[in-house]
This record gives sequence, structure tokens and C-alpha cells, in this order.
Amino acid sequence: MEYCEVCEEETEHYIIKQRGRQFLIQCSECGNIKTVVVDKEIDIVTLVSDGETTLKKIARFPQNQEIVKDTYLFFDEIPYLITKIETKNGPVNKAFTQDIWRLWLKKSEYVQIRFVIVMGDTLKKRYLVERFDRVFTVGESVVIDGQRYRITSIFAQGRRHRKGSFEALYVSTVYVK
Ligand SMILES: [Zn+2]
Repeated sequence: MEYCEVCEEETEHYIIKQRGRQFLIQCSECGNIKTVVVDKEIDIVTLVSDGETTLKKIARFPQNQEIVKDTYLFFDEIPYLITKIETKNGPVNKAFTQDIWRLWLKKSEYVQIRFVIVMGDTLKKRYLVERFDRVFTVGESVVIDGQRYRITSIFAQGRRHRKGSFEALYVSTVYVK
């Protein structure tokens, strides 16, 4: 997928011609043709933990891509949390791909969501494990411990929202009553 300036959205593109890192591509929707240059790629040693196991593998990244700790990378559409970034000089909170020595990732197909159940003056907390792409919407009804509740607000991406929908990956707390 590539952004098309004519369609003003991400569309499928066909490769017409390639010369080194330079590609001539055509939008499958509107037929617009343009040239794109693909960044040079570099290999990084990644240590990927998935439950109890940690796998060491080589992953390919574009050069000059900034990698930030505690954010997600997607491989085969599955999110991986960046838990540690190591350079030759030690661990850092962010770095460009060419400066990274080793990258520590945690497969995050399932995430823990905190539910706060508001019952009058009392609050009850429950932790449930949900798939990362489960979408929560304010107003939606959910079942917790066999009881039906309604979502009143969602804490996601650093603040509390009283409307909207959010993927579990970005949600820390769901308030229900
Ligand atoms: Zn287009």
C-alpha cells in the first residue's frame, strides 16, 4: 500500500519499472504513475519474546527509521512492543535503525485491559485479556463476570475519551457501569 496523491488515500500500486532502489509505480485505482525511492535496508538482531520463549532473529528495517521504546512494530500484521533498544553504547529510549545494535520485542497479540466498574460510590476493578485488534466503543455493552455493563468512557493514548472507538492495543482502561 502506498499513499496516492490523486486518490488522497492509501491504495494498491503496481510496479512498472525498477532501477536499483528507484521504482516507477502506478495506482491501481486511478492509474496515476509516479517514482518512489525506497530507503536502503539494514539488518538488526531482534530478540523476540512470545510468552515464555525468546527467539533471536534478524529483521530487516529501512535506514533512517526512528525506533521508539514502548511503541509497537508490526510484523505480519501482529503487534510487537519494543521493550528495549540497545546501541553499542548501551540502552536508549529511541534511536535510528542504523545506530541500533539489538532490539528487544515482545509479541503482543493479546493485551491486558483494566475494566473499572462504577457502582454508585464504589469502584470495582477487573483485568481481562483481549486480542489487540478488538475494538471498544463508548456506549457498547460488555459482559464481565456474567453481568452486562455499558462502556461510559475509555482511557486510550494518554487521555480519557467520552466518545469514539479504540483498538485494545491502545486502551489502558475501560470504564463501565
Ligand atoms: Zn490513485
